[in-house]
Amino acid sequence: LILSYRRRASDRQIPHVRAALAGVALLLGGFAAFGTVNEPPPPVGRTIVENLALTIPPADEAQQLYWREERFERGDTFASFLNRLGVNGDDSAKLIRQNRADNFLKALNPGTVVQVKTDANGTLLSLEFVSARNTLVGVERKGDGFAGIEEQVPLTSVVKVASGEIHTSLFASTDEAGLPDAVSMQIADIFSGDIDFHRGLRRGDRYSVVYEMLYYEGRAVKGGRVLATEFINNGRSYRAVWFGDGDKGGYYTPEGKNLRKAFLRSPLEFSRVTSGFAMRIHPTRGVWHQHKGVDYGAPTGTRIRATSDGTVDSIGRQNGYGNAVVLRHTNNVTTLYAHMSGFASGLRKGMRVSQGDTIGYVGATGWATGPHLHYEFRVGNEHRNPLTVVMPAADPLPSHRLAAFKAHVREVSAPLNLLSNIALVSAE
Ligand SMILES: [Zn+2]
Repeated sequence: LILSYRRRASDRQIPHVRAALAGVALLLGGFAAFGTVNEPPPPVGRTIVENLALTIPPADEAQQLYWREERFERGDTFASFLNRLGVNGDDSAKLIRQNRADNFLKALNPGTVVQVKTDANGTLLSLEFVSARNTLVGVERKGDGFAGIEEQVPLTSVVKVASGEIHTSLFASTDEAGLPDAVSMQIADIFSGDIDFHRGLRRGDRYSVVYEMLYYEGRAVKGGRVLATEFINNGRSYRAVWFGDGDKGGYYTPEGKNLRKAFLRSPLEFSRVTSGFAMRIHPTRGVWHQHKGVDYGAPTGTRIRATSDGTVDSIGRQNGYGNAVVLRHTNNVTTLYAHMSGFASGLRKGMRVSQGDTIGYVGATGWATGPHLHYEFRVGNEHRNPLTVVMPAADPLPSHRLAAFKAHVREVSAPLNLLSNIALVSAE
């Protein structure tokens, strides 16, 4: 289920978000009451292009122009990607060669939606995408070669609501719901102090999310910020609401508690590759080992993150642990990360690290039968189960902002409440 409501990207003030959310709530209200959804008018540009292709008979096949849109996926080579976009081999080779010299497509990252214009022979006329810095980046045909372009473009922000249920992995479900990766990753990130998305997900877990989607000329080009979200993990509901000004802000529970925790629940980077990995490999997820650690099956090379701010206590080879890092944190807590294939470059004993910093990569060094991360959490000399240990939270919202926050929460929660009700009705 996805509904949308349009507003300008530049309107970042809370009153506009409120207006948008009220719109969403109205749409959802209509849905709940009548059981049907009047789809909001689709974004303009793309649809019009398709209509023209249908209604105007092609005068000359070769003159026909084709727009194609694909997402650049992790693991794509430039060549395989251009092939998927329908660019012919000659132009593909030419562009790759020219890009090697000019590097005009360096802003192309996995997850980026790319649009190309070709003729019927796959001759590349233009290729463009919106970069992480919200500029339009691409190449245009110029004579026999290509010229790079980069320009500021006006983006329109649309507030959307989506919900889904986990059957195999978070990404499988968010793909089904049409959520961009940027939004799925934010959901995992927002709850990373409470939920271990590698080992803690259960079949039947559910989520709802209110988020911004950015459009350029009517096409969805980028997932924006998550404004509010709920995740029901193993029967327990977690809610988060964004509160702040511009880019300064954070996620809080509806009661105003900070969602950010002193420790991340999982030391593994959450990504499309690692999502669902444990579900496939380890049927006994979440089992607390008698050997006092937790094992995370993950592909070799997966990034390992410092679960909290700290200093490097030791780094190097340690018998059965193989390549291992020990971090020292406040309150006499140490964490250990073992079997790494390698360390983050430049990491040394005594260095300070921040929560989320990459400290190394998953491997199978030491006594390991396959690539996995062995993770230990100790208080003094005592091992604790990192899957269940209670993590202290960061500072709550200051009391003088609580009234404004509560008012914001009431409005932002309305669509989440409605989504929860719809999920219940449809499950019955
Ligand atoms: Zn282990």
